Amino acid sequence: MSSSGGRKLAHVALLPSAGMGHLTPFLRLAALFVARNVQVTFITPHPTVSLTESQALSTFFASFPQIKQKQFHLLQAEKNSFDPFFSHIELIKSSGHLLPPLLSALTPSLSVFITDMTLASAVIPITQAISLPTYVLFTSSAKMMTLFLSYPALAGSRALDDLEETGVIKIRNLELMPKSLVPPPLLQKSDNFLKKSFVEESGKVIESSGILVNTFVSFEFESLGKINDGEVLERPPSVVAIGPLPPYDSEKSRLQLAWLDDQPAGSVLYVSFGSRTALARDQIRELGVGLITSGSRFVWVVKNSIVDKEDGQELEEVIGHELMERVKEKGLIVKSWVQQEDILSHPAVGGFLSHCGWNSVMEAAWNGVRILAWPQNGDQKVNADVVERIGLGTWVRSWGWSGEKLVSGAEIAERIRECMGNESLRIQTLGIKEDARKAVGFGGSSDKGLTELISMWNQF
Ligand code: UDP
Ligand code: UDP
Ligand code: UDP
Repeated sequence: MSSSGGRKLAHVALLPSAGMGHLTPFLRLAALFVARNVQVTFITPHPTVSLTESQALSTFFASFPQIKQKQFHLLQAEKNSFDPFFSHIELIKSSGHLLPPLLSALTPSLSVFITDMTLASAVIPITQAISLPTYVLFTSSAKMMTLFLSYPALAGSRALDDLEETGVIKIRNLELMPKSLVPPPLLQKSDNFLKKSFVEESGKVIESSGILVNTFVSFEFESLGKINDGEVLERPPSVVAIGPLPPYDSEKSRLQLAWLDDQPAGSVLYVSFGSRTALARDQIRELGVGLITSGSRFVWVVKNSIVDKEDGQELEEVIGHELMERVKEKGLIVKSWVQQEDILSHPAVGGFLSHCGWNSVMEAAWNGVRILAWPQNGDQKVNADVVERIGLGTWVRSWGWSGEKLVSGAEIAERIRECMGNESLRIQTLGIKEDARKAVGFGGSSDKGLTELISMWNQF
């Protein structure tokens, strides 16, 4: 806490988890705090998994010199074949005992700590011991949060096992979602990372002072209501929707896509499966065929490995010579990190073939770009369901989870044509963009939520 002209100012520390899908919303939240005169210390687990994360951090700290950076040096990583982002989350958690000295050295002393929902079980016992109020930033949808908060109870009962494939998951007679949306690892009988994480983290998140979520009230009214009205859990921590977390200035214009400037308004489909999803090689090629046959213009980000550092292959090796030549006629194809905000905010872009990582969904809403949803794993079907219900996009459910089947180029082409030609969807998404901007604008629901939190923290 510190004072400025007699007025107390909150000092907030943020600790993100591994991967751009977790880092980006923390950086955006930190930028929002700066704009509201909150003192920010940003704790960066070191090293990061991907090159992209370390580059994003350097650019960020260069743009926000007022933010204090604290490196959190992790224990030495053991080599294993597990998902690199998941194993990094484990590593951050097992390095938790190194946090207290780092926290006690911070001046002025902290008013509030904010961490990711994947780290709660390691962080909350530490902050509780020093009576530091701790909030959790939930980086997925509120709908996913209904499952996350109820999962320990569900996993402890036979409710999931006994449910038929087409059944609906219920908790105390409250319908949560159809079983078909649930991340498959959460339904497995055997232990796995996601199951363990949901049980451990959810159990601690409920001891937090509150949960911030990157969504907005009009977008996820029902799920937020179910949680805050005590239907999911009897006494939930208060959940505050503060999204869509807007991009900050230095995120923009790192890469100029001059090609886009020459395309007609709304004519381009942007194709990306996020920061950590690589499609199988044969599926990548079918997608290429689909893009070409659709007749649409496109910007296609091809990702060939989960972690950027490990991707040594040339684009042509991945998609093949013939496809490479044909693709150039109608589109732009990239095999590197692009500044997604630059693309989605470009007037030429009218559609987004997306895996529905939650940040991508919020960014599409923010920019009023319609989604053709192709969820691959994890929380993505839950998110795609939200997208479809609210009218931000369409979803071909029969495409299944990643690797379940090979979706043909012809099928992909047809669905792209339908989505890009859907005029009512185009108009609907512009309405959602307006609602998104209203939510974070002065007096909007997300703006109010954040303002109230900060005023409370200023009293701590
Ligand atoms: N992103 C980007 N460029 C890329 C790939 C991803 O800027 O080439 C950003 C995207 O805008 C989003 C984040 O990385 O903010 C990915 O998060 P999301 O939740 O959409 O998916 P995940 O990568 O976690 O599966
Ligand atoms: N994956 C993910 N989120 C999940 C589950 C899986 O991002 O909730 C990714 C992860 O990168 C993993 C890949 O999907 O490496 C395959 O995971 P899954 O557990 O489905 O495959 P398996 O372990 O059965 O090969
Ligand atoms: N998740 C979680 N704990 C973990 C890992 C993931 O709660 O340790 C959540 C995650 O945020 C999402 C869902 O589980 O709601 C699926 O995870 P996935 O890996 O697909 O998401 P990502 O880590 O890419 O955001």
